[in-house]
Amino acid sequence: MKVNVLTLFPEMFDALQKSILGRAIDNEHIELNIINIRDYTKDKHNKVDDTPFGGGAGMIMQVEPIKLAIDNNNLEGRCIYMSPRGKQLDKEMAMGLSEQDEITILCGHYEGVDQRVIDMYEMEEITIGDYVLTGGELPAMVLIDTVARFVKGVLSSEESTLEESIYSGLLEYPQYTKPREIYGEEVPEILCNGNHKLIKLWKLEKSLELTKESRPDLFEGYMKNHSKLDKDELKILNKFK
Ligand code: SAM
Repeated sequence: MKVNVLTLFPEMFDALQKSILGRAIDNEHIELNIINIRDYTKDKHNKVDDTPFGGGAGMIMQVEPIKLAIDNNNLEGRCIYMSPRGKQLDKEMAMGLSEQDEITILCGHYEGVDQRVIDMYEMEEITIGDYVLTGGELPAMVLIDTVARFVKGVLSSEESTLEESIYSGLLEYPQYTKPREIYGEEVPEILCNGNHKLIKLWKLEKSLELTKESRPDLFEGYMKNHSKLDKDELKILNKFK
């Protein structure tokens, strides 16, 4: 999958070239094409923004450098503008985007971008949540990371996404690693006894406890509509009714 990013701060995207995403880029599952919008300004002072018509605070990114950046690079596929006005990023949206061959993401800055460029390219506006950040770079990185995890080959089978918190319908149970005891704190006995059936039931019970406490909305949803459970798992579930 090719991901084009239009930004005024290309160096911020170095952060994506690490860990699982770095591996996905090295293995060519993801191609990141970072474009500096400032390279396309015709202004002799490299200006890319100006004051808003009608007054108001801050500066607005201008149409021309963004349009030239898109056209000169022949960018194709769905065009997304990271924006607090947008639709909220979620699993379904990320899965849908992961099926595209190419997407382009515009990162706003200052007070945002001139509406005409959003309309010209019929950009979809996507938000990462109900808060406002300084620029679209961090939201774009959140989007890319979330989408990339659904791109075939990016995660190994052990790193499967659908068993994670939220995607499974519940929050994840507590996890532990070696050593078995540290600073007087021990790993729950049940995780060390090798009884996979009991371990699975313990994980389900802990997930239900945590979800009920921290995300009652998810909990209610899971209680109404959950994946297929065997009779022992149903006994655990019934304790929470
Ligand atoms: N004036 C804009 C408004 O009220 O909608 C906010 C501008 S914000 C300071 C600057 C840029 O950060 C936006 O153009 C957008 O690209 C990005 N941004 C800020 N918060 C965001 C969020 N929650 N999700 C996605 N992008 C966001």
